[in-house]
Amino acid sequence: MPIEAKRIWEQMLPLLETNMTILSFDVWIKPIEPLDIRDGKLVLMVASEWGKNEVNMRYLPLIKGAMNAVSSLLTDVEIISADQKEKYVSQEETYEIKEVPIEAAEPLSINPKYNFENFVVGKCNQLAVAAARAVAEEPGTRYNPLFIYGGAGLGKTHLMHAIGNSLRASRPRLKVLLVSSEKFVNELVKYIGMEKDGQKFRDKYRSVDVLMVDDIQFISGKPGTMEEIFHTFNELYNSSKQLVFTSDRHPKDIPDIDDRLRSRFEWGFTADVQPPDLETRIAILRKKAQIQKHNINMDVLTYMAECISSNVREMEGLLNKVILLSQLNETKPSIELVKEALNDYSEKEEGEITADDVIDATCKCFNVKRDDLLGKRKTRDIVEPRQICIYVMTEILDLPLATIGNIFGGRDHTTIMYARDKVAQSMSQQKTVDDVNNVKNMVYKK
Ligand code: ADP
Ligand code: MG
Repeated sequence: MPIEAKRIWEQMLPLLETNMTILSFDVWIKPIEPLDIRDGKLVLMVASEWGKNEVNMRYLPLIKGAMNAVSSLLTDVEIISADQKEKYVSQEETYEIKEVPIEAAEPLSINPKYNFENFVVGKCNQLAVAAARAVAEEPGTRYNPLFIYGGAGLGKTHLMHAIGNSLRASRPRLKVLLVSSEKFVNELVKYIGMEKDGQKFRDKYRSVDVLMVDDIQFISGKPGTMEEIFHTFNELYNSSKQLVFTSDRHPKDIPDIDDRLRSRFEWGFTADVQPPDLETRIAILRKKAQIQKHNINMDVLTYMAECISSNVREMEGLLNKVILLSQLNETKPSIELVKEALNDYSEKEEGEITADDVIDATCKCFNVKRDDLLGKRKTRDIVEPRQICIYVMTEILDLPLATIGNIFGGRDHTTIMYARDKVAQSMSQQKTVDDVNNVKNMVYKK
């Protein structure tokens, strides 16, 4: 059983870590040793009697919560100090733990990789996570439909699968269906083509307990299918079945959809996901590294998090590249390796808009010279166009800030961040909005 205790404890650690400060985690949780499982209790050992009392007082509920999340068979946690160990080791083992196989409704549609435990909660997404958790706990009651919206790579699909995984574990009998809106519409069109009334489509979609449609914005502009979709959602909603949607924008901003459908989306609960702040980005990177069993230095994680600011998917791509490079070079991940990995990002594909295009456009719009724009001059007539150029780059190019810094004569990524934020803040002024739009129009006109 000690091995089982260790396995369970290892699964609990990332959960505990996301729910406390890094400092508390390092001080209180890391030193704990998973000792055994006895009588349905997870026995944890802390070095001193004093430590045992502290952990009991501060973290017992959190530890219990994490245990319940990873194992449905354990009933309690017991914390002992090192000098009580003898007593435990000599006792007979009385409890045996067995895995309960979980029956999967649609094994392929829900990705087990995406669960709540490995989703990092920050200010940027806490509302969406809370609502998603509530839906997973009590589907079809509150928050129906749940509508999660926000930019690319910010975890919407992850959260949707997390709801699916959680429901699968807690209520294996519920029929949970997760589809992309593309698949949803394709099936609808196919079935309606096969038989006039689309009975098969109805049988499939109206018989589920939870229907989740990812990227629902893609149903826009397809009037023939809108009616059927509306009725499907209505019927499910009226029989208290849970609906969950994700979208890259708020329902009111989805063009060309039936107004009834739009208002249906807004009836329940809408929650947005925003780009994570630096601290959350670091936490995400830590978690992703941990999942792959890599221990990466805090400096390196921070550097990565600073370089990529708006898209978690990209940040993950960078992390994977750094890990790969470190394995190839047989060295520990370092800032140098991150820089090396970042270099690849500047390679471009044909027809794609490049940093050069943005630079050219800015030079034309403001009538400044390229060398000045990229150089060190600090006069106002140069600094303003430079900041606008940087802002447009961060908006329309998928370039890490460090790479943009290199383009601008080796400026630090924090300088780039500053320029970007400065323009973003002054977007309340019409002049800035016009400047940005002029540059963008010029870029796209090419
Ligand atoms: P979206 O659907 O919003 O475009 P995804 O859900 O596909 O984004 O997320 C992109 C990647 O980023 C996934 O690998 C996901 O696990 C990861 N991700 C995004 N946000 C978080 C987060 N808060 N914690 C952990 N991983 C995250
Ligand atoms: Mg998605």
